[in-house]
Amino acid sequence: MSASPFSDFVSHAPGHWPDVSPEDWGDYKWQLKNRINTLADLEARIELTDSERAGVLLAGSKLAMSITPHFFSLIDPNDPDCPVRRQVIPRLEEGWTAPEEMSDPCGEDSHMPVPGLVHRYPDRVLFLVTDRCASYCRYCTRSRVVSGVGEQHLETQWEQAFQYLEKTPQVRDVLLSGGDPLLFSDSKLEKILTRLRAIPHIEFVRIGSRIPIFLPQRITPELCAMLRKFHPLFISIHSNHPKELTTEVRDALGRLADAGIPMGNQSVLLNGINDSVDVQRTLVHKLLRCRVRPYYLYQCDLITGSSHLRTNVSKGLEIIEGLRGHTTGYAVPQFVIDGPGGGGKIPLNPDYVLESHEGRTLLRNYEGETFEYPEPTPAPAEALELLKERSTCCP
Ligand SMILES: *Cc1c(COP(=O)(O)O)cnc(C)c1O
Ligand code: SF4
Repeated sequence: MSASPFSDFVSHAPGHWPDVSPEDWGDYKWQLKNRINTLADLEARIELTDSERAGVLLAGSKLAMSITPHFFSLIDPNDPDCPVRRQVIPRLEEGWTAPEEMSDPCGEDSHMPVPGLVHRYPDRVLFLVTDRCASYCRYCTRSRVVSGVGEQHLETQWEQAFQYLEKTPQVRDVLLSGGDPLLFSDSKLEKILTRLRAIPHIEFVRIGSRIPIFLPQRITPELCAMLRKFHPLFISIHSNHPKELTTEVRDALGRLADAGIPMGNQSVLLNGINDSVDVQRTLVHKLLRCRVRPYYLYQCDLITGSSHLRTNVSKGLEIIEGLRGHTTGYAVPQFVIDGPGGGGKIPLNPDYVLESHEGRTLLRNYEGETFEYPEPTPAPAEALELLKERSTCCP
C-alpha cells in the first residue's frame, strides 16, 4: 500500500455553514453571494476581540472586508491569532499609519503610461484590470484602489492600454493583475486574452490571482478549457500559510496544472502568521505537491496600517537560510523587497560568499563549512606548444 502524498490536505467544508448543500457550497456564485462583509455577519459566526470589532468598523472607509465562506471556514473561531483570521479580519492597529508607511508603497501611480498599466521594467508590464477580489487581504499593497471604498479609484483605460501595448514592441510579457482577474466571467477574460494574443510581440502572458485560494470553486473545467487556448500562459497564485491548501484548493490547482498552466506562488512574509522556517517549509512542500513552484517571498510593503503585520528584514533571510540546502531547490522562493517608492523587486539572499580577493572566492555552504573556489588558470603557451606538437607527430 502506498501512502498518499496528500494525507495532510483536509477539507473544512461546509464549516460555519452546516445547512448549506454540497451543490451550493461548490458553486462559486453561491460563495460570492454569501461572503462575510459586515460586522453583523462576522459576529453571527465567530466571537470577535475588541480590537477586531474596532478594526472592522474602521475598515469600511479604507479597504473593505470581504471573506468567502470557503476561506472563512478555515478560521479557528477560538484563536484570535489564527493565521487565516489575521489575513482577512481587520484589527484596530490597521487604523494607525506609521511614519514610514505610504498609500502607494511601490510607486505604481508614477509609472503608468496609461491609467491601469504599470510599465516599470523594460520588457514587461503589469496590467491592473480590476479593483475587486474574492476576499481582501489586510496588508494589500494596492489597498489604495482595491475594494472600491478608499479615496482613490482604479480607472483602467482599456482601449488606450491595448493601443499602448500594440505600439510598444519591447513589451514581450504582460502580467494581468488587479484586484483579481479571475473574478471576471470566462467570456470577458477570453476577450482580454484574445486581444493580447493578437499582438505579435507579446510572447508571454501571466495572471496573478488569489482566487485558487479564496474561491477554488471558480476554477471550473470550463475556465481551464478556455485558458489553455492561450498558451504559453502562467498563473501566479498567492498563498501564505499551509492551512490555506485544502483538498478543494489542491483539486483546483490540479485542474489548472492539468490544463498545462505552470504555476508559481507569491507569499507575503507576515508577522505571527508565517514568519518561521517551520511554517514556510510546510507551505512550500504542500505547494510542490500541488505542482506550484514557490516563486517570491515578499517582504511586506510599507502600506498604510501594516506595521502590526510586518517583520524585520532579517526574518526573511533567516527563512531562506533555513530552507536553502535543507530541502528541494524547487521549494525555495526568492526573497524580495519591492524598493519603497518605486525601485522594483530587489532580491535578498543570505551571504554565502565570505570573501573574494586575489583570485579566490571563499564560500560557505548551508551547513556552515567553508570552501575555496579559485579563478581559472590559463594554459601556459609552452604547454599548448607541446600539445600541438604531439597532436601532429603521431601516426
Ligand atoms: C512584479 C512586477 C512585474 C513582474 O516581475 P517579475 O520579476 O518578472 O515577476 C512587472 N511589473 C511590475 C510593475 C511589477 O511590480
Ligand atoms: S488578493 Fe491580491 S489584490 Fe486582492 S486584496 Fe489580496 S493582495 Fe490585494
